[in-house]
Amino acid sequence: MKELLLSEKEQMIRDLDYNNHVKYKYKICAEPLQRNIYQDCYREQLVSFFQMAPLMNKTVPLEEADYILYANPFARVQDFTDSVLEELKEINKRRKDNAEIIICGKATNIKALINDKYSNITYVPSHFTEYVGKRFEIDMKEEYVVYDDRNNVLNVWPVDGCLNKCGFCRRTYMDIPFESQSIEILKEKLDWYKENHPEQMKCVSLRAENLNQYGLDLEGKRTLNKVIDLLNSYDEIKYIGLSIGYCIGETNKDILESLVNCDKLVNMVLYFETGSNRLLKLIGKKHTCEMAKNFVNLMRDYHPNMEISVAVMIGLPTEELADIISLGKLLIDCEIDFVHCNYYGYVDKHPLAVYPQLNEQVKKLHLKYLINYIKKHYDNENVLTLCHESFYDSSKRSVVRKLENIKKEQKNIRGRIWYNSTYEYFMGEDIVVKSHSENITNEELEKEFERIKKQKKLTR
Ligand code: SF4
Repeated sequence: MKELLLSEKEQMIRDLDYNNHVKYKYKICAEPLQRNIYQDCYREQLVSFFQMAPLMNKTVPLEEADYILYANPFARVQDFTDSVLEELKEINKRRKDNAEIIICGKATNIKALINDKYSNITYVPSHFTEYVGKRFEIDMKEEYVVYDDRNNVLNVWPVDGCLNKCGFCRRTYMDIPFESQSIEILKEKLDWYKENHPEQMKCVSLRAENLNQYGLDLEGKRTLNKVIDLLNSYDEIKYIGLSIGYCIGETNKDILESLVNCDKLVNMVLYFETGSNRLLKLIGKKHTCEMAKNFVNLMRDYHPNMEISVAVMIGLPTEELADIISLGKLLIDCEIDFVHCNYYGYVDKHPLAVYPQLNEQVKKLHLKYLINYIKKHYDNENVLTLCHESFYDSSKRSVVRKLENIKKEQKNIRGRIWYNSTYEYFMGEDIVVKSHSENITNEELEKEFERIKKQKKLTR
């Protein structure tokens, strides 16, 4: 089969068209999986779902299928359990007698909730692309090194899953199998790119939920340094970014040495999450503010031009102004280039759900206070940009626009399955702190706090 670019695979997935499908010996319906692919994370799309492209033109409508593939992210910021239950109920109602439902990936977490309610369901939590490929004789499997021609970057996912259970994370209520890819597998794939597409290796993005746990299942220790050294050894690779999943609290000497010696590091995203040791402990992060500061200073010493971004949350339970000031101070001390800021997304299954939750008004005030604090104290020429995700308007989020377009494009498809009301929590809005127009003073903010306190409305 002709080697396809990722954008071509994506197009094949989107072009699901029952009127033009190829006759195939197995009657498989992949629509319930295809519908939810765009809500899943970048990793799941690139590693697994887009690799299923060869399946799409063989897909038949649900009512005719002997096999129905289903997927759903199950949880991102919110809990998607209700969507999954609804969708499975509908599929069950419409499927032929004896048609098998094959649930792929994170949606297999629903197993405990549906027990034996529906017959003939197969659960495939990991390697499901390979499973479906083998079972239905289609040449496809997971790929852990994937060139994204839409963004011109070679993505490397050395490890999947995370063994921690931070109090605000979906990990506390769902399972994602933990698995590192061996250095040999990664090298084999990188060598393939070197041989066939060296030009695609220029920019590498190293990604995982927890990069620092790479190797724990292979060697019983954290060996991310081996991945960094491997990437650094290719002349074809010019730039390396640690784009997601670097955990400061799980660093070791070998990893630090590799980072320091890697002369191709251009950017790094760190997960400060919050800025006081009290709150870090409460949410279960493994680092302290001092560890974060020392780590950033070390990186700045060796890679002065590296862009450092951090992700933080506002509105964690028990958060007070002192925590916000401490967070502002940490961001300023570390001279962070970009801050990605979410409000804490409450889910009743989180361990943090046992605490009284701050109400929306207080969360907003905390955000304003943080912006004010940074504006007042940060005189770095590099303007700090803060990308703030608010609760209120999901229409601006690109994934929502994408989903809406797919809905429009595919309006003629029979057998639509579309229940999701997800993503209400996401919206991105850049706030350039230096020029943020809201000129409310801290004194005014404090008065506002006093007013809310008197009304005993700090929590919801
Ligand atoms: S380290 Fe990251 S992925 Fe792991 S539990 Fe904590 S927040 Fe979740």
